[in-house]
Amino acid sequence: MRLIEFLGKTIECSCGKTHRVPEIEIVCAQGLSERLAEFFQNALFVVDQNTVSIPKIPSQKTVVAQGSQRVLATMENVKMLLDLLADKEYKELVSVGSGSLTDIVRYCSVLSAKDFSCFPTAPSVDAYSSSVAPLIVDGVKKTLPAKVPRKILIDPDVIVNCPIDLLRAGIGDISSKVTARLDWVLANYLTGEQICDFVWDDLKDSLKKVLTSTKQILHRDRSSVLELMRAQLISGLNITIIGNSRPASGAEHLISHVLEMYQEIRGEIPLFHGLQVAVGTYVSLKAYDALFEDIHFAKGSPSPQERRKILVDFFNEQIADEFESVYLSKKKAANIDLGRIKDLLKDLYLSYRYSLEASLLSMGVKELLSKYDRKFLKEVIFISNTIRDRYTILDLYDQLQVLDDFCEWFLDQL
Ligand SMILES: [Zn+2]
Ligand SMILES: [Zn+2]
Repeated sequence: MRLIEFLGKTIECSCGKTHRVPEIEIVCAQGLSERLAEFFQNALFVVDQNTVSIPKIPSQKTVVAQGSQRVLATMENVKMLLDLLADKEYKELVSVGSGSLTDIVRYCSVLSAKDFSCFPTAPSVDAYSSSVAPLIVDGVKKTLPAKVPRKILIDPDVIVNCPIDLLRAGIGDISSKVTARLDWVLANYLTGEQICDFVWDDLKDSLKKVLTSTKQILHRDRSSVLELMRAQLISGLNITIIGNSRPASGAEHLISHVLEMYQEIRGEIPLFHGLQVAVGTYVSLKAYDALFEDIHFAKGSPSPQERRKILVDFFNEQIADEFESVYLSKKKAANIDLGRIKDLLKDLYLSYRYSLEASLLSMGVKELLSKYDRKFLKEVIFISNTIRDRYTILDLYDQLQVLDDFCEWFLDQL
């Protein structure tokens, strides 16, 4: 049976759109890392210091991406790789690594007009099968249009034995699909943003299996780790099907992007993407908990000047200008009926709420949160809804003027 049944299909969707699912060749086979080169003609394999010894590839076909110990997904690193490739003859680039390296190679293949395939070395993100490349460009996280891979080759032994932090990160990134979906349903109701049910229906069962087997994943149970990989690939395809990251990314990703940009601008190495997303997902989950538990928050918002000061302190004047204008042009809900919102979200929230929290706790989200200073974390949450034109639960709280008190309440519980 195919790993994913709807590859290559055209779907007349109830959302009114025709979705074309790309025909990606996905091969999952034991011992594949030993014979990876056999699957390609005239390809160059891009590795980093951590993955260089994983597959058996002739050294003349291998390029080692440069940058820090962990090569970050920045435009500088894309350009550095392009320079390395400048005098080489090849038709295709194959990334051998996890999320950041895959994004760098994917964007390199766009700029050099070559084919792109990937050999994921960990089930840590949903990026492999997606059609976008999230990169930091001049200090700002941008999600750039890119292309899906021609082939995705998976060796179960490699992904089952990946570093434990990448398994934790994988649980973090896949957990976020619950809060991303809640945010999308909320935005559809409050701002009229178009929504699609097909991309949720194709993921929800696999997601449930993953969220109820995170202990087994962390114990490297083979079928549980493979199910996580499968869920990641479906989630990445959902981004491709819709044409943007909305099905996979809500407030939790905005929080992770702020953390990543903050560290990148200071020359620090951020945590793995999925670990930062887990932090954001926990914040989002608690925001939905507060909604359903009818927690009463005091009204009061910092002034626009205070918001600007945080943005300037975190980034710089120019980036603060950019985010301020994104924030000011964001859509707002015409009228807010919290009872109606709860009715709409209740089934989705209740069917995932407990498995989601258990997953996040099992991968160590509390320990991750404990590393941040209270004031810093509050500012991260507070400005996260300024960085992107995407309506989420934090915009609802902002509009109700309770975002500040929600942050305090959230931090009190840690
Ligand atoms: Zn993600
Ligand atoms: Zn649809």
